[in-house]
Amino acid sequence: MFLKKLETVGFKSFAERVSVDFVPGVTAVVGPNGSGKSNITDAIRWVLGEQSAKSLRGSKMEDVIFSGSDTRKGLNVADVTLVLDNQDHQLPIDYDEVAVTRRVYRSGESEYLLNKQSCRLKDITDLFMDSGLGKEAFSIISQGKVEEILSSKSEERRSIFEEAAGVLKYKKRKLNAQKK
Ligand code: ATP
Ligand code: MG
Repeated sequence: MFLKKLETVGFKSFAERVSVDFVPGVTAVVGPNGSGKSNITDAIRWVLGEQSAKSLRGSKMEDVIFSGSDTRKGLNVADVTLVLDNQDHQLPIDYDEVAVTRRVYRSGESEYLLNKQSCRLKDITDLFMDSGLGKEAFSIISQGKVEEILSSKSEERRSIFEEAAGVLKYKKRKLNAQKK
């Protein structure tokens, strides 16, 4: 499984439709300060279900919507789609390509789509659980994360290993079953 493409319109500084192709060989994104490099990783975490506005460097979820510039009016919706190659079927879904979409409107409404079909956030978190990709999975190491891992409690550190080993979903299912 690997990241193929990121498409967005209206997310943070991306007022125009932007498509980033992660063709083989792409290993870095470079650009001047404030040009939107971190906004790309924010978009990836957001579409995978990030719920914390603070962790997306804003104060409320509406802050992810393009707020306007000197030459452009603000927009009313932010839309991000992540396309993943799933030919190895690492994601437990019967598709060779998986497109995950998240949209949020200024009115506060939001929606998630899986291969263009409306779905719940839970469907997305379940799909990515134990895959290594997810809003907090080990494939995304944000600034300060290494220090955080080293200084965290052993139980917290354990969950990173559990996700890598692929046992987290069984633990969550067990917990859910015990609650019922
Ligand atoms: P650095 O090299 O300093 O880390 P960067 O390339 O990572 O920079 P980002 O943090 O991705 O830059 O982009 C910041 C820019 O995004 C700022 O100019 C900010 O004004 C703009 N921005 C953030 N949110 C919005 C929004 N909702 N609407 C419009 N512009 C936004
Ligand atoms: Mg940055």
